[in-house]
Amino acid sequence: MPSPSSLAMVHTAPRQLVAQDVKLPEIGHDDALLRIEACGICGSDYEQFEGVLRSPMPAIPGHEPLGLIERIGDGAAARWGVDVGDRIAVETMLACRNCQNCLTGNYHICPNRRIYSYIPLGDAPGLWGAYAEYMYLHPNSIVHKVDPTLPPELAVMFNPLGAGFRWGVEMPGTQPGDTVVIMGPGQRGLSCVLACREAGAANIIVTGLAADQRKLELARTFGAHHTIDVQNENAVRRVKEITNGRGADVVVDVSSYATEPITQALDFATLGGTVMLAGTKGFKAVPDFISDKVVMKEITLRGAIGVTSSGYNNAIRLIESRSTPIEQMHTHRFALRDAELAIRTLAREIPDEESIHSCLIPDR
Ligand SMILES: [Zn+2]
Ligand SMILES: [Zn+2]
Repeated sequence: MPSPSSLAMVHTAPRQLVAQDVKLPEIGHDDALLRIEACGICGSDYEQFEGVLRSPMPAIPGHEPLGLIERIGDGAAARWGVDVGDRIAVETMLACRNCQNCLTGNYHICPNRRIYSYIPLGDAPGLWGAYAEYMYLHPNSIVHKVDPTLPPELAVMFNPLGAGFRWGVEMPGTQPGDTVVIMGPGQRGLSCVLACREAGAANIIVTGLAADQRKLELARTFGAHHTIDVQNENAVRRVKEITNGRGADVVVDVSSYATEPITQALDFATLGGTVMLAGTKGFKAVPDFISDKVVMKEITLRGAIGVTSSGYNNAIRLIESRSTPIEQMHTHRFALRDAELAIRTLAREIPDEESIHSCLIPDR
C-alpha cells in the first residue's frame, strides 16, 4: 500500500525549497497517480529556483518526470494505453485540446496550456511537479511508455534527447548529408548531436567555450566531426574552412544568455540555410544583428520552445536501442531532499563540479 502522503520539495520563495508532505489525491475515471522514479533537471529549473521565470509560489517544481503508474482510472488507462506498474515518460505541457493550435497539432503552444511544475500547490491536488515521490496525472496528460529495464537516470533523458530531435532535426528538416552547426555543448546541444547523427547528417560541428573542453570531447564521442572553441579560434573562419566556404545547412543555437551566437549563426549558415533559435537570452536585445544577412541569404530563422510527441518518441526509441553512449552524458544524481544542491551544481555554484545531465531520484 502506498503511504497516504508524498514527500515533496516545495518552492516557497526564490532560492528556497522546503520539504513538505502533500496528501495523495483520490484518483477518478480519467486521471492517475505516478510514482516518480527520476526527475531530470535543466537550466529552466535553475531559472525557476531563482525566481526569474514567472512561476507561482508555493509550487512543486520538476517538469521532466519519469515514473511508474501507481493508480489509474479506467478511462485514462484506455486512452493512454497504460496500466498500473507501467513505466512512463510524461510530457511537460497540459494543453486544452480545443483551441486552434491544439487542433492543428501545435498543442505545445496552446495559449490555454498549463505546464507541470508551474501550477500552484494550492490548486488541488497540489502534486503538479516531479520534485516529489508522487505526481498527479491530469486527464489531459500525454504519456509515453518506456522500457522498464533501463536505469531510471538513463530513461529520464527522453527529455533533453526529445529536444535534440525536435530542434536539431524535425524543425529545421535536417537531411542525410547535411552540415549542421550546433552552438552550445550542454545536454541539449549534445542531444542535438545524437539526433543529427541519427538523421544522417554528414558533417556535425559543435561550438563551445574554452571551459567546455570535456563537453566538446563528449560531442566528438557522440558523433560530432569537428568542435570549435570559440574563445581561442575564429569560429566563422573555421566553419568556412570545414565546409569549403559553403557554410552550414542547419545552425542550431542552444546556448543560453550569450547573444553572440545569434549573430554568428547568420555567418555560419549557407544560402537558403536554416537557423534554429532554441536558447533563451534573458530577454536581451541582440547587438550587431544584421537582418540584411537573413534577407540576402534567404535564411529561415525559427524559434523553438518545447518538444512534441514525435520528438519524444524518437528519443525514447533511440535510448531503448542502447546504440549510443548517451549514458556518458549523465554526470549527477541526487536524492530528492538534495534538490537545492542539484540545482546549484547545475548552475556551477559548487566548485569543481561540472554537471551535464543530472536528475533527482527519490529514495525507495
Ligand atoms: Zn527541462
Ligand atoms: Zn489548446
